[in-house]
Amino acid sequence: MDDLKFGTRNKRGDWAPSAVLDVPPFWKRPFSLPKVLAWIPEYLFPWNAFHMATTLIWWFYVVPDVEVMKTLSFGWALWLYAVNAAAIFVFYGGVELFWYVKKKQGTRFKYNAKFPAEQPSDVFWFKSQNIDNFLRSFFLSIPLWTLVQVIFLHAYATGAVPWLTWSDNWLWLVTLTLLAPAIHEVHFFCIHRLIHTPLLYKWVHSVHHNSVNPSPWSSLSMHPVEGFLYHAVALWHLVIPSNPIIAMFQLHLAGFGAVNGHIGFDKLEITEDSTLDSHAYAHYLHHKYFEVNYGGDGLIPLDKWFGYFHDGSKAGDAQMQARFEKKKARMNAKATRG
Ligand SMILES: [Zn+2]
Ligand SMILES: [Zn+2]
Repeated sequence: MDDLKFGTRNKRGDWAPSAVLDVPPFWKRPFSLPKVLAWIPEYLFPWNAFHMATTLIWWFYVVPDVEVMKTLSFGWALWLYAVNAAAIFVFYGGVELFWYVKKKQGTRFKYNAKFPAEQPSDVFWFKSQNIDNFLRSFFLSIPLWTLVQVIFLHAYATGAVPWLTWSDNWLWLVTLTLLAPAIHEVHFFCIHRLIHTPLLYKWVHSVHHNSVNPSPWSSLSMHPVEGFLYHAVALWHLVIPSNPIIAMFQLHLAGFGAVNGHIGFDKLEITEDSTLDSHAYAHYLHHKYFEVNYGGDGLIPLDKWFGYFHDGSKAGDAQMQARFEKKKARMNAKATRG
């Protein structure tokens, strides 16, 4: 497919989409009902529907019996870890294999023309972004994801928190399910902005940002503090009256959904003339410029409200530069005073 119909390529070969990033239509004034209705299928398919499908598979085929989960034990925790890790291996590994190893689509729709394997660097374990990212995902982040899973499943199983049933509370539970991606966005924005404060950035979050040119394995490549905080989004369902299936959906949005920001391609070519939108651009710009787009797609547009939004356009760039200049001036003034 001709990616130049959808964007431009610079001298280095980096591709950028022509369409600028935008917030969902219900935030726009004047309010347009047709636009909101047209946005709903895009909200549900394919990604949120995919996360719901994996959630149901886990709930019906993977999660142990409630009686088993009443007692904490390594047995069922390790079982959950094995399934989570195998699923990520297949899901992220599939994208990695076809788009990064076999390079089935070359650099069409790829934001950065280079592939991480072409750029060895000292910041990574074994000087390899791929090995470093892979090891951190499987030996740190996925165990922490599983820990969060064990905490909420055990809490529900023992009755430590209310377990609302679908038959009695279906309206609230359906609403909460539809709101889960918004909860994810707010939680992620808050913890992400927090770990961008100077001390925590240096100690915790710089690990994730070593991957300036992210690939699928970068998604869960985190310092353990971030790895726990990131997946802990599911624990909101111990505070909000909820149901373990929705807590699991919340966890899958985080764990499986992390890949979306790190695919590196704007569209994945599935067949000759069909593509899948990755929704990766906002977070790609975050990896490129660091202090923009702390949230996700702008479902709850906190970046816009706080002035951190970069929509990928020249105007977005100018706005970011102006903000950086202001920050520099503030720091210089502080240095001369202090
Ligand atoms: Zn990232
Ligand atoms: Zn960051």
